[in-house]
Amino acid sequence: MLAEDYVRMGITKAKKASPPKPYIENINKTLLVIGGGISGMTSAIESAKAGYKVILVEKSPVLGGWMRRWYRQLPQKPPYKGLQDVDIENTIDEVKKHPDIKLLTSAEIENIAGQPGMFDVSIKQGGKTIVERAGSIVVSTGWKPYDAGKVDGLGFGKYPNVVNNITMEDIAVQGKGKIKRPSDNKDVKSVVFVQCVGSRDKDHLPYCSSVCCLVSLKQASYIRSSNPAAKVYIIYKDMRTPGQYENFYKDTQADDGIFLTKGDVFLLHRSSDKSLTVEVKNTLLGEDISIKADMVVLATGMVPATDSSILNLRYRQGKELPMLKYGFPDSNFICFPYETQRTAIYAAGCVRQPAESKTCKDDATGAALKAIQAVELESIGSAVHPRAGDLSYPIFFMQKCTQCKRCTEECPFGALDEDEKGSPKPNPNRCRRCGVCMGACPERIVSFENYSVDIVSSMLKSIEVPGEEEEKLRILVLACENDAYPAFDIAGINRTVFNPKVRIIPVRCLGSVNIVWIADALSRGIDGIMLIGCKYGEDYQCHFIKGSELANRRMENLKEVLQRLVLEPERVQVLQLAISDYDNIPGIMDDFMAKVTELGPNPYKSF
Ligand code: SF4
Ligand code: SF4
Repeated sequence: MLAEDYVRMGITKAKKASPPKPYIENINKTLLVIGGGISGMTSAIESAKAGYKVILVEKSPVLGGWMRRWYRQLPQKPPYKGLQDVDIENTIDEVKKHPDIKLLTSAEIENIAGQPGMFDVSIKQGGKTIVERAGSIVVSTGWKPYDAGKVDGLGFGKYPNVVNNITMEDIAVQGKGKIKRPSDNKDVKSVVFVQCVGSRDKDHLPYCSSVCCLVSLKQASYIRSSNPAAKVYIIYKDMRTPGQYENFYKDTQADDGIFLTKGDVFLLHRSSDKSLTVEVKNTLLGEDISIKADMVVLATGMVPATDSSILNLRYRQGKELPMLKYGFPDSNFICFPYETQRTAIYAAGCVRQPAESKTCKDDATGAALKAIQAVELESIGSAVHPRAGDLSYPIFFMQKCTQCKRCTEECPFGALDEDEKGSPKPNPNRCRRCGVCMGACPERIVSFENYSVDIVSSMLKSIEVPGEEEEKLRILVLACENDAYPAFDIAGINRTVFNPKVRIIPVRCLGSVNIVWIADALSRGIDGIMLIGCKYGEDYQCHFIKGSELANRRMENLKEVLQRLVLEPERVQVLQLAISDYDNIPGIMDDFMAKVTELGPNPYKSF
């Protein structure tokens, strides 16, 4: 019976669906890169090398970002030991000389209208507005140092010899490697580095900035090379040197003029000779220590440069990229690291996550590849992600639209604008084909050629429901194709046995589930319905951002609707399932089956 049901459902779908006709427009394949630091320049160079035209917009008059201020850089290749000269000038030259990179410095984005493949970008430069067309966008606006003055008790801004790690680079550049203390230009003999200033602190930056430990190790070696008799003390919460940089850490650790200890800096005071005393508690030595220093360097963390207006998007849902946490743009970190909630707009480098320059270059190359993938797929009318290759897009039967705005408000990707009457005005290239609009529309006028309210309704109606006398219950599962359905697939591959009374229909997203499917299934006599979607909440895993959460919220309305139709809402359950939870499927099915068995057969069976 199970096999017959699936064959029937497949035939019904094939009969009802038609091959999608892609939405093909005259796609512009130029990439817009915003930010001329190491990440932006790398994205521009890599895209141009791959044969794409690039417009690079930088707000300052010069390229290079923070790296122009570095005295030396961390090792960029194996064996990840020793410092390297900063080679940013070569990168700047490459950008300037590349014939396919149009460089606009002292320029800012005024606004961006349109959709992927057809973005109309207004750029302000020198009192003029330039309008360019672009197909996809890489945002690499970088970072700012956290204001160490916000952290109490460290004397930043009060004592001239307490500096942050940026000023320390400036000192190294000015002295050509000689480190002199700011108050009197004397050579330093003893320097204390205080790690995690603001970072990993719930009152400041709750995250690890991931580079500050490496920067302090780098700057410690400036001091040791400048004066081999000088002593360096690094006080850390934990030393964090990600990946291969462990080698650099070990190398620096071998220098017996660099003393590293875990500890909490709790007091910093200055004596009359301008030297500073740092009091440290909870050290690994088991006792409090007091260190006299000529200078103290505060390892401040990285803050993403997203707080000003960068994109000025003309999207109904807002002008900038939606934020995840702490000012970083939202993206699905698990599956698509560069993807933001705005299709064909990618974040790269420190605006996406704190990183040193090598990681930024890798990141910028990854984001450039995604931006290229976006324009190529748009040029054939295909979705970019997560349904890469899908040629369908929502079609609206406007004559019946009541302008209720549910679809325009609930589309997670800002794909639907509104016209002057309040009817949805689709931008198909912004769309990710999730079907959330289809699930939202009370008039059922949104559909795809190969996915619609009617197609799924007809599929579930083709399930044969045994009569009450047969004592065989039927359970319908509407499973999100991103996590829940693959979890069933893995269970199948593993030959996991679960209840054969269950029939599964994959849905694009739980947000695409239209209430009518539930009403149809219950009135047909199906005994129980499970809606299984991705995890939501703070660490959400929904590819369509809020589809699963929306389905849960819509359940409240659903209860009312079902009660009005004299259908039993207790026969419906919404669940979250991660792809890795496939082992739990038999238990989940059995529990639900037990609940439905207790309710008894659906009274509509005999109608
Ligand atoms: S399918 Fe999804 S992304 Fe596309 S318009 Fe509808 S809600 Fe928006
Ligand atoms: S949800 Fe349906 S009725 Fe409401 S505005 Fe959108 S298309 Fe029109």
